[in-house]
Amino acid sequence: MKAKRLIFALAATLLIAACSKAPISGRKQVLLVSEGEMIQQSYAQYRQVMAQSKVLNNKDAQMVKKVGNNIANAVQRYFSTHPGQLNSNIQYQWEFNLIQDNTPNAWCMPGGKVAVYTGILPYTQNEQGLAVVMSHEIAHAIAQHSREQASYSVIQNLGGSIFSSLGLYPDVYNGATNLVMLKYSREHETEADQLGLIFMKLAGYDPNYAITFWNIMRQTSGTGQPEFLSTHPNDATRIENIKKYLQSDKFKNITN
Ligand SMILES: [Zn+2]
Repeated sequence: MKAKRLIFALAATLLIAACSKAPISGRKQVLLVSEGEMIQQSYAQYRQVMAQSKVLNNKDAQMVKKVGNNIANAVQRYFSTHPGQLNSNIQYQWEFNLIQDNTPNAWCMPGGKVAVYTGILPYTQNEQGLAVVMSHEIAHAIAQHSREQASYSVIQNLGGSIFSSLGLYPDVYNGATNLVMLKYSREHETEADQLGLIFMKLAGYDPNYAITFWNIMRQTSGTGQPEFLSTHPNDATRIENIKKYLQSDKFKNITN
């Protein structure tokens, strides 16, 4: 009984200490796992994936790097002129690679390590489409969604084990988070859509193209579900929410 009370007190203290605000959206989030540690893991996982994959260096790969750099530069420029918006002091080590893999997929790990699979290129079709996907994935990383997810798995485990409450959470987190196959919550998806639209705008892309992209994804969802759709549910609500956000004052008022 005493131990239980201690765990709850400790958990409450940790939660208050770890309470943070997501960039731009201002949504409250709990970030319990250390960002530096998470990023080190992500860099190791990224190196591993790259070593096991066929990394391309063709025209499409150059476009992936170009779009990625445009977005990363715009994001960095924005947060450097809006200090206090970003709840992170870590310098991202951006990297953008195109992998030969027919799975339609793309992701950005914590710390700015991005992979685009050739399988998604028929859906993105051009530079604007690529900017939609990459802005969205970069938004997940900037808003630290995977760190937030890892933090929630720590909290879940806090209730069950006194060991995790004593700071031994990296083991729990290792078991819970595969940074490549991560599936985000709908709340995170909506936030990444919105931040992604902002990042597109800041990088000089047309954010309205997001509607075109998600419609292309939607039309093909009847003919076998692309991987990207299994982690990115694409219903009428998603497209409607994007349209609404593009018309909102919040979006219109964001400028470099
Ligand atoms: Zn997503």
